[in-house]
Amino acid sequence: MHTGHHFLDEHDGSAGPAVTSLHFGPAGRRALLQCSLHADEIPPMLVAQHLRQRLLALEAAGQLTGEVVLLPACNPIGLAQQVWGRLQGRFDLASGQNFNRHYPALAAGAAGRFKATAGRLGADPAANAQALRRALLDELAARPAPGLLQQLRHTLLRLALPADIVLDLHCDNEAVLHLYATPEHDAKALQLGACLGAPLLLLAQDSGDAPFDESVSSVWVQLRAHLGEAVPLACFAATVELRGEIDVDHERAAADAQGLLRFLQQQGFVRDLAEPEPGLAPIQGATAAPDCVARPLAGSLPLVAPFTGLLAWRLPVGQWVQAGQPLVDLICPTSGRSQALTSPVDGLLFARELQRWARAGQSVAKVAGQEARRSGKLLSA
Ligand SMILES: [Zn+2]
Repeated sequence: MHTGHHFLDEHDGSAGPAVTSLHFGPAGRRALLQCSLHADEIPPMLVAQHLRQRLLALEAAGQLTGEVVLLPACNPIGLAQQVWGRLQGRFDLASGQNFNRHYPALAAGAAGRFKATAGRLGADPAANAQALRRALLDELAARPAPGLLQQLRHTLLRLALPADIVLDLHCDNEAVLHLYATPEHDAKALQLGACLGAPLLLLAQDSGDAPFDESVSSVWVQLRAHLGEAVPLACFAATVELRGEIDVDHERAAADAQGLLRFLQQQGFVRDLAEPEPGLAPIQGATAAPDCVARPLAGSLPLVAPFTGLLAWRLPVGQWVQAGQPLVDLICPTSGRSQALTSPVDGLLFARELQRWARAGQSVAKVAGQEARRSGKLLSA
């Protein structure tokens, strides 16, 4: 293993905080696993700790057949943000922007560079991917990156654009394990879901505001629009939501690490995947989990509080529910007004707010239905 330290520049040119990358296995094909882009989402960091040990052992045993890059805590800006004694990670305090939005669109510029230099795509998909990656990285390098946040985005893209597989590990407020990916890679995403025992995969071609995963996977679809069908879809990227904020324990982290390694093995990065040492943590095989079901992200409907009050849930997350089924009682503690909020659709109640207090108009839960009913920006703020 070798370690990279990627410093972000402060405005005066001095070295600012650094992104740390751990590199396992032989250089060549790359798989990248990025942890906690939202900084205050802790479950991926513990999974990284388990992955680090497993990857060290696999590397020492000569079982890695490609490079696996692990960013164990990829957002040093967010990790330094404390407000009223609590870590605040989702939004950059300096700009108010979400750390997982607004990644630069590189396809048009990269296609122009490719045409101006290499010119034409050949018959070899690997050679085409390599030439286009160079054009994407050149286009990125040519873009200005003013400020720490933009430098963080560029740093993460520089590490991820060379990768065939990019897994961006997050968590929700309170949720079952679920995935986001793009429709052209739905089969591979379902494979990942099966490896992890995730019951739900949410698919969207363009979920709005350019999140990290789509910036490295959909860019190949966009390159096709400029350069034709010979452009390979060279990167599979998915966002993996490792349940909820407080689901941080060794048992689940070890199982998640095992699931991620199993997927990397299927993708040709690991030769023989030894089971972890007995007694370290029990591993629940994906075979015992329910099948991973793919649903359109546009079919994931919010449950909205019509007035301000406390939330008394009737069901845990992970339940399949029917339209009209009461999910939670919303209660105004002063007036005593109480209303049961019902599911907007048949589907899986897969995520909800951790706080048991809702303001009027707030989305307090998400139910994944079968039919695409929303349009525009599909992700929450
Ligand atoms: Zn997140």
